[in-house]
Amino acid sequence: MISPDKALNALKEGNTRFVKDEAHSPRQSSEYRKQQIADQKPFCAILTCSDSRLPVEILFDQGIGDIFVVRLAGNVASETAMESLDFAVHVLQTSLIVVMGHQNCGAVNAVINHLADEDLGEIASRIYPAIQGKKNMKEAVIANVEAQVKTVETHSLLQPELASGRLKICGAYYDFETGLVDFLSTNS
Ligand SMILES: [Zn+2]
Repeated sequence: MISPDKALNALKEGNTRFVKDEAHSPRQSSEYRKQQIADQKPFCAILTCSDSRLPVEILFDQGIGDIFVVRLAGNVASETAMESLDFAVHVLQTSLIVVMGHQNCGAVNAVINHLADEDLGEIASRIYPAIQGKKNMKEAVIANVEAQVKTVETHSLLQPELASGRLKICGAYYDFETGLVDFLSTNS
């Protein structure tokens, strides 16, 4: 397995190629697809929103078998999302988890504007505490990412890997206009 830092660099480099219209992942051919049948070895896991405008493999210029993706509106670290990420880390040996929010997130917007309140469902209840007092949409999205990162990095099942440095968790923000993914600094 590659190190967490190398995994992060692979995402950064892929996003740079995407932004420059130089995407070239060779790992999308039918030949490559067939090589992936028996096993998967994704180099990272990403928890992100279901929004159709952030196709993960495309915006990081990655191919089949590269990224283990968990998608839920508002990129919330729900119990089932955590079970999926636990699988990525413990079974697939993934060394990096990225929690990625994005510009104009409909789920965050719904909570800000009280279209979805805390008692309306799990997604809203997981976003609600993070965005209290945030008026600006980008600020709220980033606060939500940070809150979900905290949920992931305090999850009991991941503590041994985090303590040993085998696993890193990182927040990120995707901008529709520029195509750029900003990786947020973390303590881990
Ligand atoms: Zn969204």
